[in-house]
Amino acid sequence: MNLIFMGPPGAGKGTQARRIAEKYAIPQLSTGDMLRAAVKAGTPVGLQAKAAMESGGLVTDAIVVGIIGDRIAEADCANGFILDGFPRTVAQAEALDGMLRERNLHIDHVIDITADDEALVARITGRRTCGKCGEGYHIQFKKPASPEACDHCGGALVTRADDTEETVRNRLSVYHAQTAPVLNFYRGKGGIETVDGMQEMNTVFGALCAIIG
Ligand code: ADP
Ligand code: AMP
Repeated sequence: MNLIFMGPPGAGKGTQARRIAEKYAIPQLSTGDMLRAAVKAGTPVGLQAKAAMESGGLVTDAIVVGIIGDRIAEADCANGFILDGFPRTVAQAEALDGMLRERNLHIDHVIDITADDEALVARITGRRTCGKCGEGYHIQFKKPASPEACDHCGGALVTRADDTEETVRNRLSVYHAQTAPVLNFYRGKGGIETVDGMQEMNTVFGALCAIIG
């Protein structure tokens, strides 16, 4: 089961990918998470990606295509994977096509999770993530029992450096200019399925499960 979750920043891709990954026992491949880990570790990729990420721009296609190419070759992807935050440009989608063809793989569902820009700003500026286990929270929509600690593991909750209002607006305009065209790319191939990401989180999850089967 190979899935692509599309949608603007804050639509709920990560939240849902985490749950779908658990339910279907396939890994969530988030290029954002991988890049943040590389920045934190100070690897060459991290050093190259840092400035673009801080400004809300896109990291180069070569870097992210390289990361995903290595990742889908790993053993835990043998039964499938969820791409979360990739591809973000038509060039990335074309490169992904080539990598899948080489491995005789195909994408089962491209799912677009939609949401309004103004709601996305509120979602992203209120986002908190557990620095230890990665669980996601929201100060209004998914409140942790204690504002500073993860309900599951007690880890400290952190706000991403790029989750400021100014950066979010830049990320949204980058999304509309560079990532929305990827939807047309897939419309011209097998087609896409759309889920209304403005619905309550459990409703979104149910709609995704209904598509995936
Ligand atoms: P993405 O991975 O698409 O950037 P996230 O999954 O991190 O988005 O969600 C962004 C924020 O919005 C998080 O704080 C999350 O808890 C919250 N969120 C996700 N889905 C919903 C929803 N359906 N309704 C309200 N808030 C949501
Ligand atoms: P995300 O965690 O998906 O919100 O991504 C955070 C940031 O990482 C983005 O704003 C980009 O700077 C970078 N990034 C993540 N995925 C990609 C991608 N597929 N292509 C280019 N840049 C990416």
